[in-house]
Amino acid sequence: MEFTPHSTPKDTGWIEVIAGCMFSGKTEELIRRLRRATIAKQNVKIFKPAIDLRFSENSIVSHNEQSLPSVLIKDIKEVFEHSKDAHVIGIDEAQFFSSDIIEVCNKLANEGKRVIVAGLDQDYKGIPFEPMPQLLAVAEYITKTLAICVECGNPADKTQRKTTSSERVIVGAADIYEARCRRCHYIPEEK
Ligand code: ZN
Repeated sequence: MEFTPHSTPKDTGWIEVIAGCMFSGKTEELIRRLRRATIAKQNVKIFKPAIDLRFSENSIVSHNEQSLPSVLIKDIKEVFEHSKDAHVIGIDEAQFFSSDIIEVCNKLANEGKRVIVAGLDQDYKGIPFEPMPQLLAVAEYITKTLAICVECGNPADKTQRKTTSSERVIVGAADIYEARCRRCHYIPEEK
């Protein structure tokens, strides 16, 4: 794996987590790794939560319009029935799944599978977005992706919401969110 100084594990599975704010290239990086696994003739299965219907129902799609076919699931445990023969499991938008995802990823990795999970590590207020903190704790490999702050050009790891809604989850893209650095990020006044 070119993204780590370690050698690839032998005779075991493992967990990789790609974490960051919106527009930081998480899905792009997930797609890149899964594509390479496919080229290496590995059986790859990709999942995303039923909540995220942006762009396409049956694909994971990055903001730069890369895409790969994926299975839409409501409960993370549905992964088991679809991944019997898979060598590599990709999971996108992990922050929308329940904390069962920890047990599911551990079980898959224990069965010898490579599990690659991408997700938002903080909500729009900058609060750690469960279950990502727990996933980061059990992962062997962690990649933090940074975006560019739209205000000042610094590396950005916060998602700025441009609406005043106080719901934790509003699915959207550049119309309601943008990347900001620590200095430029603020919590919108709730109405
Ligand atoms: Zn900034």
